[in-house]
Amino acid sequence: MQRTAAVIGSGFGGLALAIRLQSAGIQTTIFESREKPGGRAYVYEDKGFTFDAGPTVVTDPTCLEELFELSCRKLADYVDLMPVSPFYRLKWEDGDVFDYSNDDESLMAQISARNPKDAEGYRRFMKYSEGVFEEGYKKLGHEAFLDFRSMLEAAPSLMKYQAWRSVYSIVSSYIEDPHLREAFSFHTLLVGGNPFNTSSIYTLIHALEKKWGVWFPKGGTGALIQGLVRLFTDLGGTIHLNSKVEAIEAASGHVIGVRLPDGETRRFDSVASNGDVVHTYKDLLGQHPRGVKMAKAMQRKSHSPSLFVIYFGLKRQHPEIAHHSIIFGPRYKELLNDIYKTGTLADDFSLYLHHPTASDPDLAPEGCSSFYVLSPVPHLGKFPADWDQVAPLYADRILDYLEKHHIPGLKNDLVTMRTFTPQNFKTELNAHLGSAFSLEPVLWQSAYFRTHNRDDVLKNLYFVGAGTHPGAGIPGVVGSAKATAKLMVADLGGATAVWPSNGGPQLVAAQ
Ligand SMILES: Cc1cc2nc3c(=O)[nH]c(=O)nc-3n(C[C@H](O)[C@H](O)[C@H](O)COP(=O)(O)OP(=O)(O)OC[C@H]3O[C@@H](n4cnc5c(N)ncnc54)[C@H](O)[C@@H]3O)c2cc1C
Repeated sequence: MQRTAAVIGSGFGGLALAIRLQSAGIQTTIFESREKPGGRAYVYEDKGFTFDAGPTVVTDPTCLEELFELSCRKLADYVDLMPVSPFYRLKWEDGDVFDYSNDDESLMAQISARNPKDAEGYRRFMKYSEGVFEEGYKKLGHEAFLDFRSMLEAAPSLMKYQAWRSVYSIVSSYIEDPHLREAFSFHTLLVGGNPFNTSSIYTLIHALEKKWGVWFPKGGTGALIQGLVRLFTDLGGTIHLNSKVEAIEAASGHVIGVRLPDGETRRFDSVASNGDVVHTYKDLLGQHPRGVKMAKAMQRKSHSPSLFVIYFGLKRQHPEIAHHSIIFGPRYKELLNDIYKTGTLADDFSLYLHHPTASDPDLAPEGCSSFYVLSPVPHLGKFPADWDQVAPLYADRILDYLEKHHIPGLKNDLVTMRTFTPQNFKTELNAHLGSAFSLEPVLWQSAYFRTHNRDDVLKNLYFVGAGTHPGAGIPGVVGSAKATAKLMVADLGGATAVWPSNGGPQLVAAQ
């Protein structure tokens, strides 16, 4: 009899897991509470402008290609990925600009111009980062750390790279220039980590970007989500939108299925949650002692900050603005302290500015441009503000700042705008404390110490996504899906599906 699985949530992790399960011949159903798939990679369409709500920097396309190759298909037949260069344009208030790309000649010239000693330092940093990338990403990035022994086995290689040190500390041991230290350490913020607190293992992001580049899907990240959904349904999978799971039903150490708002329980052999880990244990399993116990444990953990995002469309084009800009404010460490430690909404900010029409003009009406600007802010546990009150004022300050320093005439050219606040992360995505990236990616919450891909007690309950190993970001959650799928396929009997290039799957019995 064909095995069945439910996946709660259609974020990148949920979709990648569902594709892997369906490719392995397991009849898989996704339940997504919102009316569109994608989770944090949601899409807004306003007055002819298209805004990707979340991820925009697509790295490691190989992890996405792998999902198509499982059934002898090609990613390129579903979505067109375009290279982005520079990867990021970094800007400081004193007018300094650094174009960060994989054009080594330009990179070295820019580094040497700041500090000739840093050119050699950068080469050594690159070697370090490549080493960590091999160990931390290629070998361990899609392993499930279910027991402490697996952690002990991984420890020596991670300790060799001084995993106890922070990203900023390692970068500073190679590079002197203060702006370059920021340029090579800010990446952890893209996965919710404070560079002063996040393990140096995360410097691997630098090597990962250099190796595989930065990409943007034609039509936006939403087009990539559509491509994954199409692949999943082409394989015979089912996705239900507007279908919030109210509870995971469990009895005698096993999960039975999921309960929907109409009170109906749909039975499945296995259930995987791509939803927030606190939400899953506290709200979906709140009736079960395991849920109560784990919800308490999860809530005690450190959660990554939130984000305040403004999506805006302008009636003018801005060819001078790069696709991805990182705009550093006057303070770095101190601002991060405000966000991560004291929970202060500071007067200054560091921003990420997304300008997708630089790569794909079709994302705005003719002659117009679309943008989003993102400011990391404390989560609701540290800054429990009424964001309905704060949002208009904070948005105004950010837009004034952008108009003064980066986009002259912004307010006059504004055609449309909307905001997304920590409160929205909580209410629309069920994110605990409105956290944008789930559990903070610190060493003591990594691998075995993160949510396990399979629950230790309810043996057919699984997790996938930012709250599991290896963590947030598209490559992270797609890697977590690989780890979870391996467990689920093995637990469900180990059947594998072989996809001939011109037909449906042939199930091969378990070895
Ligand atoms: C603004 C922003 C910008 C980012 N930029 C980048 C970037 O440029 N590059 C990058 O790699 N990463 C980026 N990230 C991080 C990345 O987007 C996330 O880590 C990743 O998309 C999370 O995927 P996930 O699989 O954990 O699922 P999520 O995207 O968190 O999706 C979970 C899904 O579960 C659904 N759900 C929850 N509860 C239920 C329920 N009870 N019933 C049914 N459905 C439920 C939710 O509606 C949601 O659709 C960004 C994140 C944000 C917020």
